[in-house]
Amino acid sequence: MSRAFQSTLPLSRHRIDRDHVSRADTALLDARWAGSEARVLVLHRGQALATRGANPADYDGFGPAPTVRVHPELDLRSPRDLPALVLEQLQGEGGIRLYLGFSLDDSAALPQNTPLFAISVTDAAAAALETATSSWLNLRMVASDLDDVSAGAFTEALAVTNWHTTHTHCPRCGAPTTVESGGWVRRCTVEDIELFPRTDPAVIVGIVDHDDRILLGSNALWENNRYSLLAGFVEPGESLEAAAIREIGEESGVVIDDPHYVGSQPWPFPASLMVGFMATVSEAHPAGLRPDGDEILDLRWFSRAEIADPATDVLLPGHASIARAIIERWFGGPLPEPEDG
Ligand SMILES: [Zn+2]
Repeated sequence: MSRAFQSTLPLSRHRIDRDHVSRADTALLDARWAGSEARVLVLHRGQALATRGANPADYDGFGPAPTVRVHPELDLRSPRDLPALVLEQLQGEGGIRLYLGFSLDDSAALPQNTPLFAISVTDAAAAALETATSSWLNLRMVASDLDDVSAGAFTEALAVTNWHTTHTHCPRCGAPTTVESGGWVRRCTVEDIELFPRTDPAVIVGIVDHDDRILLGSNALWENNRYSLLAGFVEPGESLEAAAIREIGEESGVVIDDPHYVGSQPWPFPASLMVGFMATVSEAHPAGLRPDGDEILDLRWFSRAEIADPATDVLLPGHASIARAIIERWFGGPLPEPEDG
């Protein structure tokens, strides 16, 4: 793995000390929550409360990002300043005070060593928190514009919150579960077993042919001129490498021999971990492209000249994605942005 490559992934920044040892100490977390230094990241329907910035209009994370952008800043409140309605919801059924840990850096938003929590609020509580200048930010849209601590806190909070949303009941016996350990464990109320947050690994592969062209596919869910790397979920009982070989074969008909790991990025939409690979087409199997027609409708090999040529007219994945980073790693630097976004 290249450290330089990993540092290009906006959601992989980890400037939070997750402080695992404090999670189980409820009295300690209560004291930190009550202190003047603590700050709370507020989520509502998966978006974070911000004092500045907005989701780019008409931008869904593909193609060039809008050229006029405001540097976003999360609205990290002191727990002492939360409206009564928010505190009531937090203490009621389903309310979760998630302990994220400590900030490791000074940032515009907060100083180093700030204890950080996250909460997810209802529509009414969200309305009670909003000010005249508030906005709600979508991580996928703004990730690359956030500072390191904010991006890390938002990614961590969203991933764990998404897990809570789908694990209110025990997967073994169906009984309700309760929250403990600062929001990092749920316990079955009947079997008394602990349930831990899950993440779903997916492989994403930059495939090159013997002319050093890269293979991109157009997904059935996208508009016709959108192209990205091929990717798919790892199946149970399968290694990452075997998943890469299988997924590429299924989606494209291309045989790859020896995928090698280049880096990974959490992708909490809702619960993925994207594991990036590079691979070369098998010498023994000429690359006859055969899109599966179901998930992938079109496949194309791109040279560096083609991908940089505005006349090629394709939309590539946006800056938040590991797909973009892998394509730029192959390209040798940032891809040129079109003159007119
Ligand atoms: Zn159970």
